[in-house]
Amino acid sequence: MKRIFVNFLPYTGMITTTKARGRRDFAVRCAVCARLTEPLAYRCATCEGPLVLDLVELAERPAPIPDAVGVWRYGTVLPRTRHAVTLGEGATPVLPLVSPATKMDLRVVGKLESLNPTLSFKDRAMALAASFALDLGVDGLVLASSGNAAVSAAAYATTAGLRCRVFCGNGSRAGLKLAIAASYGAEVVVVDGDYSAAYAAAVDAEGDRWLNVSTTYRNPLLAEAYRTIPLELVEQLGDMPDAVVVPVGAGPLLRGVYQGFGDLVSAGVAEHVPRLIAVQAAACAPLARAWASDDWLVSLREPIEVGATSAAAIADALRGYEREGLLTLEAARSSDGLVVAVSERSIEQSLRSLLAQGVLVEPAAATPLAALADPSVAKILSDSATVVLILTGHGAKEHGLIRPHSWGRVSAPVEK
Ligand SMILES: [Zn+2]
Repeated sequence: MKRIFVNFLPYTGMITTTKARGRRDFAVRCAVCARLTEPLAYRCATCEGPLVLDLVELAERPAPIPDAVGVWRYGTVLPRTRHAVTLGEGATPVLPLVSPATKMDLRVVGKLESLNPTLSFKDRAMALAASFALDLGVDGLVLASSGNAAVSAAAYATTAGLRCRVFCGNGSRAGLKLAIAASYGAEVVVVDGDYSAAYAAAVDAEGDRWLNVSTTYRNPLLAEAYRTIPLELVEQLGDMPDAVVVPVGAGPLLRGVYQGFGDLVSAGVAEHVPRLIAVQAAACAPLARAWASDDWLVSLREPIEVGATSAAAIADALRGYEREGLLTLEAARSSDGLVVAVSERSIEQSLRSLLAQGVLVEPAAATPLAALADPSVAKILSDSATVVLILTGHGAKEHGLIRPHSWGRVSAPVEK
């Protein structure tokens, strides 16, 4: 029998009615041709385009639900699900930071998504994904991962009584993270290649019984969970930030953040979305390359040479799902933002700078601080701007501060 112990919200009993408190009805739409499709779909049946969710617009400022836990505290902005799985994700702290690279009088604030239950921002998406999976009655979650999503999906799957299958490319060098995912009971399969190779394997494994929760745009639901970040930020800062810097692979985090600020605009809380600055590691930067080109899609479809990077968590070549990258680029453009790439040296310097400030993150999460030194970023920020850096993942899983239990098994040797 399936084991389910789910933290139901106080208003769960009302959810099947149209008067359900919070949670928004949604339609699934093709991002390319706008055709509407079924809730459990991953691509447009007409043009193969990536799918996005259209949520009913908010008429008033979304308020936190006082007795709700985790990402469900701002459940009023999330797409409607009948279940609400939580491990206490979200409500992550903000911390003032110093940016040694900038001379401007910036107010720099870190949003410590690294302090989520499994130490990365993915937990917000996986809380929503596991809830949706229970609604659908599927057997489990399947995903491609470079490490963090694997740990997160495994944790939320076991909490929800679901199975979990993870595909990871050996190029992601995610040994410890995969061992942790296996400790949670996930089936972990290492495939030859990079993240895009793992993505293809996860697509092959998805189906009626397995919900694909790869945290690209493959599953259109997942990015929606990140709508909660701007709401928390405005609550914590007392005001809208001027810019938000987001590490991106394919970039659903950035798009979700864009949508969340859009909620505040449509509710009349803010006049416009802050500038969203996407940052990639220069060693694997298809979005930054496309941003600088005349034709985004042509650029995204050109082969990309992927170099070695410490920021494996955001190393995504987007091979085979290039159009997903357009969603991120469009969100950055709509916010008057930017897409930049940072060097390995600047990532390391930022990592050290954060450590000196007491903050332990993984290299991908240090890229926003590195981006502040980019002249094109400095150019669009006024001297007294408030800039939020999304610190996406903790350093513990990189530095071996967590020892996985010995009962988990990984299917093939994993590089260290
Ligand atoms: Zn379409």
